[in-house]
Amino acid sequence: MTPCDDSTHALIDCLDAGGRLQARFLVSFTGTRWAEKGSIVGGSTTILRIVDHNDRSKTGLVASVFLPGTHNRKTCPIMTDSGSRKRSVVACAVLVVVVSGLALWRVSSVSPVFRDQATRLAGRVYLLGRLNPSVAYVVDTSDGLVLVDSGIEPDCRLLLSQMDELGLDVRRLKKILLTHAHVDHVQGAMYLRRLTGASVFAGRADCDILRAGGPPSALFSTFEMPGVELHATEIDVELDGGEIITSGDCRFEVIATPGHTPGSLCFVLQSNGQRVLFSGDTVSSITGDLGTYATRVAPRYRADAGDYLETLNTLKALPPPDLLLPGHPRTVGEGEPGGVNASITPMAWRDILEAGIDEMQELVERHRADGADFLDATPRELMRGLFYLGDYDDKACYVLDAQGRLFLFGAHGGPGLVEFVEMRLAQFDRRLADVVAILPASCSVEATSGLSSLLRRLECPIVVSRAGRTELKTRLPEDTRFVVLEDMNVPELGPIEGIPLGGYGVAPVAFRFERDGKRVLVSGAIPVNPDSHPEMERLIVFLGSGQGDVTRYGQSLSRLLRDNPDLWLPTRPVHGQNANLYDVRWPLVIRENRNAISRSLEW
Ligand SMILES: [Zn+2]
Repeated sequence: MTPCDDSTHALIDCLDAGGRLQARFLVSFTGTRWAEKGSIVGGSTTILRIVDHNDRSKTGLVASVFLPGTHNRKTCPIMTDSGSRKRSVVACAVLVVVVSGLALWRVSSVSPVFRDQATRLAGRVYLLGRLNPSVAYVVDTSDGLVLVDSGIEPDCRLLLSQMDELGLDVRRLKKILLTHAHVDHVQGAMYLRRLTGASVFAGRADCDILRAGGPPSALFSTFEMPGVELHATEIDVELDGGEIITSGDCRFEVIATPGHTPGSLCFVLQSNGQRVLFSGDTVSSITGDLGTYATRVAPRYRADAGDYLETLNTLKALPPPDLLLPGHPRTVGEGEPGGVNASITPMAWRDILEAGIDEMQELVERHRADGADFLDATPRELMRGLFYLGDYDDKACYVLDAQGRLFLFGAHGGPGLVEFVEMRLAQFDRRLADVVAILPASCSVEATSGLSSLLRRLECPIVVSRAGRTELKTRLPEDTRFVVLEDMNVPELGPIEGIPLGGYGVAPVAFRFERDGKRVLVSGAIPVNPDSHPEMERLIVFLGSGQGDVTRYGQSLSRLLRDNPDLWLPTRPVHGQNANLYDVRWPLVIRENRNAISRSLEW
């Protein structure tokens, strides 16, 4: 259950005896439970109908009404007896008058600096900056409010209170424009639609994902976002780009900007002679990255470097914006130094786009030259004779073919592993019988649970460190053959070098070899991929609680840093990562692991 479900806003309609709407109140319920039943509270002349965001009608509540601009609430009992009910209606009506008055009196100062609060940026354009991780914008048009992006559902209350602070009456919300189908931009839209009846607009190529509420990777929700639960979002209007959305005296031009997602959109508003661009995650911040990070993860996340490149060229061909309103601007608190201004010069705009164009051009060329070697559970030949068999039991299996001798990296997953390996090898015209060595990167029970089944079919040695042999001897048959990495001259290893590591995990090892001039590293517990926040936290807790060995971990990192591989094949690929490493990615991975050591010492 999300915070929006148990204590939140709802609408109270006051109907006359004929069922005609007389007044509508937005209320916030606090510290109360919804009553079991009671779709309509009956009465001869006045009826209170309370509708929550699930279209469930409620009664028997104590509500409190927001006073926009003052942060005050007024308690407003709603009883089932007619006397109290009438008093409630009167109380609510009085409050609404007060509220309206306050809204009229409210004077907002204009500042184009992105703040972590409700801010009037320019004219009738407002920032709701207290959302996390993305912001939302509101435009106050002569025919109601237009919201650009909705934030996550648990933040809906924050979104509404910021509108209150700005004197913007949420009952006037008519349109919700979604820049793209990622949870941090869209998840609250359904709640707001139910609350206000506003129409939701989204890019056609993102609509299926939105309506289905998944899969999680398509909505980018495999990234850590506490409190977020996926659900379907109804879309009222599908957009292709090129449309004009009119709201009273405001016109929003729709620009299709695929790349970050296939259905990504930007919206352009002409306001007070200024060209205002709502850029979503196509240009996700002014100071930092564009939204190009999405193109570096597996295709199931739906980003595409080639499309992105085209989009950036499209934007470059359009007139530059005067105000750039991205999905993730860097915000500062009131009075804090270093604020970023939404006003942008044509030169700064061109610099942003050109940096992105260079970046995407390079990525497209790299994918073309090296293959888009995503470790995303799809079996593929990464290089000549180097196979990723896909994931079994959520962990990756790799095989190297060295002149017909197969080296198998991976021994996890229990009894079914052997059939999995045999079947996947057959896809590449290779036979299980040609496996000459099994190379587990860890000797934990979990990482070696498939060993017994492999050994029943294969008469080959297991390549481990000395510590690994000690560990496994107790669990495997007596006649199991081990090749120990610390021993000199181990011909069974063929072209592969084994690197005993330590400090984290059970007898951890990494393996390195070269293929066609490229350095390849197969790893297990060490190093941890810093893109996985939970794995990094686990590492810090492990080291910090004294279970690990900080010194040995540091030494292991130093050893691995020297290898600087071109391809990294971890047991647990994160977000379907690309096996190819570029630029300073590897030193960064090692550095993040070193930082984890520092953090573990403070733990
Ligand atoms: Zn996004």
